[in-house]
Amino acid sequence: MSSRREFPLIGLTPLWDKDKQRYWMFPDYIDCIRYAGGIPVILPLDDTPEDMDRIIHSVDGVLFTGGPDIDPAIYGAVDKTGTVDVCAKRDAFEIPLMRLARTLRTPTFCICRGIQILNVAMGGTVYEDIPSQYQTNLHHMQCSPFSEPSHTVTIEKKCSLYELLGSDQIWVNSCHHQAIRHLAKGLSVAARSSDGLIEAVELPGEPFCVGVQWHPERLGYNNPCSCAMFKAFIAACCRQIEQTGIAEQ
Ligand code: MN
Repeated sequence: MSSRREFPLIGLTPLWDKDKQRYWMFPDYIDCIRYAGGIPVILPLDDTPEDMDRIIHSVDGVLFTGGPDIDPAIYGAVDKTGTVDVCAKRDAFEIPLMRLARTLRTPTFCICRGIQILNVAMGGTVYEDIPSQYQTNLHHMQCSPFSEPSHTVTIEKKCSLYELLGSDQIWVNSCHHQAIRHLAKGLSVAARSSDGLIEAVELPGEPFCVGVQWHPERLGYNNPCSCAMFKAFIAACCRQIEQTGIAEQ
């Protein structure tokens, strides 16, 4: 792939409307990538190994977006009663793409379903339904608009997210009924809500592999924490381009 691009290409995983047989995307993801200096590219949900390989080598970073539940069969859960909706097309594309991205150390930002895909692709599991499987007094599916924060998360002090945000507590929005249950080996917890649920993870040693359970793109680019995360993601993609360019010279 051509190197030394000024504006990194960021592949975004799309939503799939089963009824209409159409791809779709919330514009906030696109806007935040653009504001941070990247060029958003909506990926096809093509799951052949050849396509997957071409796709991952054609982008400088990947944003795994929010969406429906992961099929519990993929992480070996037997009780599927808490699973609301699944999308086989996305599971079949995103799990192998995530593993490829980890092999290649492609900068990766994982939002909501994305953090769950990261965890499951690396061998972890999720709570299929927080209200029925986890005791909490927080509303992780907030009633207020998703552009407004609804609960705090405490950031672990020994993680890159703390260095990035410069704070050990931030306000986030919350629109998820699932969350990480068993953390995959290799991932580090970066933030938890006050009820103990994992709200952010990172993969130490990679240029940028961060997952958040909240939706920074819905809080908007004007939110200082959202802005800092998107900027850091794009900066990591730019560094990768630089390094690839140097290696190819
Ligand atoms: Mn939450």
